[in-house]
Amino acid sequence: MNQPQIDTSLFKRLRVVLVETSRPGNIGAAARAMKTMGFSDLVLVNPRFENAMEQDEAIAFASGAQDVMAAARIVGSISEALADCNFAAAVSARLREFSPPIVTPRSLARQLAGDCGLNAALVFGNERFGLPNEVVEKCNVLINIPANPDYSSLNLAQAVQVLTYECRIAATGDAPGSTDIGFHGQAAGVVQIERMYAHLEQALIAIEFLDADNPKKLMPRLKRLLSRTQLEVEEVNILRGIAKQILSFREK
Ligand code: SAH
Repeated sequence: MNQPQIDTSLFKRLRVVLVETSRPGNIGAAARAMKTMGFSDLVLVNPRFENAMEQDEAIAFASGAQDVMAAARIVGSISEALADCNFAAAVSARLREFSPPIVTPRSLARQLAGDCGLNAALVFGNERFGLPNEVVEKCNVLINIPANPDYSSLNLAQAVQVLTYECRIAATGDAPGSTDIGFHGQAAGVVQIERMYAHLEQALIAIEFLDADNPKKLMPRLKRLLSRTQLEVEEVNILRGIAKQILSFREK
């Protein structure tokens, strides 16, 4: 597998991913929010309108950030959007029972701006439905913007603005060099981790620890447990090695 490229500047390492955005205007406004803060890597997962970026509303809201919008990539799945990332943050207005650790925008920005070498994605949901659980589960952390408890749902592009603003301040201000995320080796990629879970699941089914017909919450619980550890490449390889060995013993 290709190892993610490491660039020290957060402005090159940070990607904004918009999942199933409905309103073209929000895509334009998100591009503008990004450009004002110095970011340019925009990926759209299944926008409602494939030609969203050509619509008048999108162009009007993008204003002077049409270059960022025009350079956006459209992909068909979240895995594609995160393929070369080794850190993903689900940005969600809603907290959930099975989610990765919850981190504030400021703390996330501080950690990403540090010398952590992470290729990170900020993942935003649809205007009405937010982010599906399957997407949140793939992410390393869940970011919730502190807001009025009686009305806490920001406009999508405004949420992009808050996050990119915090990242800019952390990257240009006196960002600490420390990596409180706690990586020592190379952080594992999102897709690599996804494959590891599939392998582990297969092994747990083989030893009848997991009942495929009645899986209950075992896999979500394991994901939640391991997401607290910020997995590294070598650790993922060890877990896959264990799964492989279990499967080969079962076959004997
Ligand atoms: N009704 C949706 C809210 C969608 S708002 C829900 O319940 O999830 C569109 C997107 O903006 C969200 O998916 C999220 O990415 C972002 N967003 C809005 N308010 C937010 C908040 N307070 N914290 C974090 N993200 C927020």
